[in-house]
Amino acid sequence: MHPFDVELNRRLAALREQNLWRELRRVDSPQSPRLAIGGKTFLNFSSNDYLGLASHPVLKEAAIHAVEKFGAGTGASRLICGSLAPFHELEERLAAFKGAEAALTFATGYATALGTIGALLGKVDVIILDKLVHACIVDAARLSGARIRVFAHNDLNDLEAKLKWAAQSATAEDGARRADILVVTESIFSMDGDAAPLGEIVKLKNRFGAWLMVDEAHATGIFGRDGRGLADELGVGHQIEIQMGTLGKALGASGGFICGSRALIDFLVNRARSFIFSTAPLPAAAAAASAAIQLIQSPEGETRRNILRERIGQFQSATGHRTPVISSAIIPVVLGEETRAVAAAAKLREQNIFVPAIRYPAVARGAARLRVTLTADHSADDIAELVCALTPVINHQS
Ligand SMILES: *Cc1c(COP(=O)(O)O)cnc(C)c1O
Repeated sequence: MHPFDVELNRRLAALREQNLWRELRRVDSPQSPRLAIGGKTFLNFSSNDYLGLASHPVLKEAAIHAVEKFGAGTGASRLICGSLAPFHELEERLAAFKGAEAALTFATGYATALGTIGALLGKVDVIILDKLVHACIVDAARLSGARIRVFAHNDLNDLEAKLKWAAQSATAEDGARRADILVVTESIFSMDGDAAPLGEIVKLKNRFGAWLMVDEAHATGIFGRDGRGLADELGVGHQIEIQMGTLGKALGASGGFICGSRALIDFLVNRARSFIFSTAPLPAAAAAASAAIQLIQSPEGETRRNILRERIGQFQSATGHRTPVISSAIIPVVLGEETRAVAAAAKLREQNIFVPAIRYPAVARGAARLRVTLTADHSADDIAELVCALTPVINHQS
């Protein structure tokens, strides 16, 4: 064997030993409550398609129409010649939806975080992250070169301590520019499904003159008026300088976005490298996302949110499972050791139920879990089947 592959196989063997080996499972069906895998049908509790829009006829129709009118590809980055009409329509809709001056979309949420944080911060600046923020925010912080501080998850005292430190050390001048401080958190956390105390965080960052970026990947479409997000629900949206969201979860399409001031968006168009140096995403994705933004603000959107809430309530009362105070669609069943989570997921698959085992590095070592996600397309019977299969697992939770 080539020495290169020998080395990689050695590293892979180490992953297997730690129960951290992962592999792709080919799915032969659209995203829905039922997945076709390896000739079998599984009840799917793994998708972030919370409102069941990924295969919705209105989104499919919008995507098909965009392909017919604008083609399959975009030919270049947005700044060269790829800034097709569907992106502008989507951004106008997003800005209006969030009540912001402007919006900018990126190919993925990952690229959104990387481009935005990298544009705003340099090595003189300080970035303060919640311990549990998504990997893309951690990577973005590292790439920006800013000094990184991490506060304990949702811990306001620790955040305040980090802000105090940052405010003191940020007074140092570096050439013409004073150091800036950016606090980044999520509104609904991706692996625990709990919520950040955004009202208090806003007060703190205002007190210290810091900026705030909130990633609403798992709240967009679900919380707030017409699904505007948790910041809207808590009435603090307009006090958050950088409002981030994704288009690939409850909105059923793909991509990421930033909403904020006109100055912020103009600045990102000029400085966000993942936006500038990357071919524009597919017009079909933008059109599907646009249709989703409309749909979630319609009576059907409200109905879907109500069904989702009902399903979450059904699950909670049937299992007595203690979930975070807020009823998000993400239900972590923390099992601890990696082997336990992997075994529990395998056991569920034997019963044709698909729930992912989430392990390091998605969560801390020793905090492995089943991550159950519910959607508006699940029936009450689907939830009952899940509860039945999951009860023995929950009862043996560490
Ligand atoms: C999924 C996710 C992202 C990344 O978005 P993609 O569009 O999947 O790249 C960013 N932040 C959070 C909190 C997420 O859960």
